[in-house]
Amino acid sequence: MSKSSVINSKQKARFHLETHEQAKERNEAKIIAFWNSGDKKLANISEKMMACRPQNPCGLLACSVCLRHFRYHYLKRYIGMWLRLYQKCPVYYVTAVLRVPVNAKKMPLNDFKMWVKKHFKQYGFDKVPLMGGVDYSVNIDETYNRPYICQHLHFLIAMQYPKAFTECLKRAFPVGENVPRPVRVDAITDREGLQKALNYTIPAFFEKRWRKLINERHRTKHYPLGNKQLCELYRFLATNKPKDLMFSQNISNQDIKRFKK
Ligand SMILES: [Zn+2]
Repeated sequence: MSKSSVINSKQKARFHLETHEQAKERNEAKIIAFWNSGDKKLANISEKMMACRPQNPCGLLACSVCLRHFRYHYLKRYIGMWLRLYQKCPVYYVTAVLRVPVNAKKMPLNDFKMWVKKHFKQYGFDKVPLMGGVDYSVNIDETYNRPYICQHLHFLIAMQYPKAFTECLKRAFPVGENVPRPVRVDAITDREGLQKALNYTIPAFFEKRWRKLINERHRTKHYPLGNKQLCELYRFLATNKPKDLMFSQNISNQDIKRFKK
């Protein structure tokens, strides 16, 4: 049985999951870009993606088919838990954007997650039930003179009063000229919104964000990544697996049972 046939259309609609065909199309663009890059590391990823099969998956983060497979199991495994938690406690969808460009040597994906967790601990928020993932974009704006890789976090938190936690986040994710609103905390207002929000926490793809002045106002437009940007980003994420994106703390069915209404 193929991986895609395990995921039926009803579940896809419920989880807002991308189609298997969309994932394959994204792979085709990457395979060609990596192969033509002249970079040995990327050519190697390209070969592994070409050989990726349901019975022998390549397991790379660069592979949209493997990422989709991971996203499906993530959503299937945790949506029920979050719906139960939502009945007991307010849930918020949080976005945090780091304004400093990624330094590939100093802060790879797993170090970024460790750094954030350490920050939460320092402020006493390491017991907050939280789950989500890391997202990347290639940004173009007036602050830096070349496109740069930007790190973001998207996660759900269950909390009665998120104000102090928001302040803690702002310490780690301060405002910059390129990121005027680095921290957003939005209350989830219904079950459908919760399902959508959980889907957004682990991105199906990364994009290019171009911040520019339009009619004297800054606006950010979103585009697919070009070949050069695909190569730069996945050279940085070459050894990562889809599950590396996931970021969570203090959340399990046992934790939820302990929640009082
Ligand atoms: Zn794969």
